[in-house]
Amino acid sequence: MANVVTSPAGRRATLSLLSVFPPSQSRSFSSTVPRCLDFDHIVIGGGVVGLATARRLTEKRPSASTLLLERHPQPGTETSSRNSEVIHAGLYYGRDSLKTQLCIRGRHLLYDFCSARAVPYKKVGKWIVAQNDAQHEALERIYDLCAADHGLDVPVRWVGRDEVWAKEPFVRADAAVLESPETGIVDAHALMLALRGLFEEEGGTVALSSAVVGVEPLPRSGPQTQKGSAGWAVRVRDAQTGEESTVTAAIFVNAAGLGAVDVHNMIASPEQRRMLYYAKGNYFSYTPAGGPSIRVGRLVYPAPEPGASGLGTHLTLDMAGRIRFGPDVEWVDSPDDLAPRADRLDQALAAIRQYLPSLDARSLAPDYAGIRPKLGRQGAVVEGKGFQDFIVQKEEGYEGWINLLGIESPGLTSSLAIAERVERLLYG
Ligand SMILES: Cc1cc2nc3c(=O)[nH]c(=O)nc-3n(C[C@H](O)[C@H](O)[C@H](O)COP(=O)(O)OP(=O)(O)OC[C@H]3O[C@@H](n4cnc5c(N)ncnc54)[C@H](O)[C@@H]3O)c2cc1C
Repeated sequence: MANVVTSPAGRRATLSLLSVFPPSQSRSFSSTVPRCLDFDHIVIGGGVVGLATARRLTEKRPSASTLLLERHPQPGTETSSRNSEVIHAGLYYGRDSLKTQLCIRGRHLLYDFCSARAVPYKKVGKWIVAQNDAQHEALERIYDLCAADHGLDVPVRWVGRDEVWAKEPFVRADAAVLESPETGIVDAHALMLALRGLFEEEGGTVALSSAVVGVEPLPRSGPQTQKGSAGWAVRVRDAQTGEESTVTAAIFVNAAGLGAVDVHNMIASPEQRRMLYYAKGNYFSYTPAGGPSIRVGRLVYPAPEPGASGLGTHLTLDMAGRIRFGPDVEWVDSPDDLAPRADRLDQALAAIRQYLPSLDARSLAPDYAGIRPKLGRQGAVVEGKGFQDFIVQKEEGYEGWINLLGIESPGLTSSLAIAERVERLLYG
């Protein structure tokens, strides 16, 4: 249901705010916003990255006003709730990438945040397993990167054969096992709930069912100023009524995940426009069906393949200790193609049996799927040919536009560090 809200600058905007901002509840904002603009910041996208960014802005800039726009009736229903919920250590992305930097920083921030805010998490650790010489070499490259003195904070250790048998009798590893003790799992929903709660407590405004359908710089005040220096007009369509309205802000952050390239293209000149590619990952649930029930105490990943667009179909655990497998890589044409594919089960089974040979086919069932926003057709996840880094930047030639593009894995792990980077890009 659409609602008329009064922005900190006193302008009335029609947005779907009722579910989070009942009309009876009065809020007082103190704001640094220029008199003619509605908000200081608008964050587009209520996934984990948008929520973390919006919260960081209210935490560090308490006198500024921040509006979070989300097209669905609830935040966090797209990629942020369709992933492995793994807190990655930062093993795969090379020495100098933004992914490595933000993953390592994000992991520390996330463990601290979860401890402080009672968000469920477990540092369960992970084994990466190699079955042959080529895979062993892939693990050695990871070991060299992490163990060598590159100043990276990513502990790893080799696990001997006896320890493998003693600790994980179901796991096969013919050539080697590399352990990452800092890898963990987190309840992504609880994390997003905590971030949203803090954002609203600190005076932030969440507008749900509010799809951004246009973004443009407000007319410039002088010939020398950059596009966006007078602020931004964001056109919002109420997903329930179809009604459109415009809100303005000095700064906007594009954290729209699978919609981020569309938002980018609303502003960019034809030669700056981008394409997004969709790499779906199918997950499979595990329910013991005859034979010995498999028990595993940590995450198990196959050795990464150079150039692959995912990390390989791995074994993850949820907070209750339940096993699930995935994600595979299936290129799709639409970000809405989210039905898990039963016909990919045999392929997944073959991949999983490489490291879990006793897995019974009847115990697997299609579960859910998520889609990786890929900026390139290959979008390799491991350092090397085709590797695609995160884009977290101030757009050149514009003022007040922060663009977050290609925020695939390890975006959940990195979310708090991305938020920190955005705030620093804006305020130093
Ligand atoms: C299969 C898979 C497995 C993964 N596993 C892991 C993992 O184990 N660990 C890890 O760290 N990372 C993992 N990731 C990556 C992680 O899930 C993402 O990086 C992270 O969730 C991205 O969050 P986000 O907020 O950028 O995007 P999203 O969660 O997609 O949020 C973007 C939001 O923007 C909204 N939006 C889009 N367009 C508009 C618009 N025009 N107007 C208003 N709102 C809009 C959407 O509705 C959505 O809610 C995985 C990803 C996938 C696909």
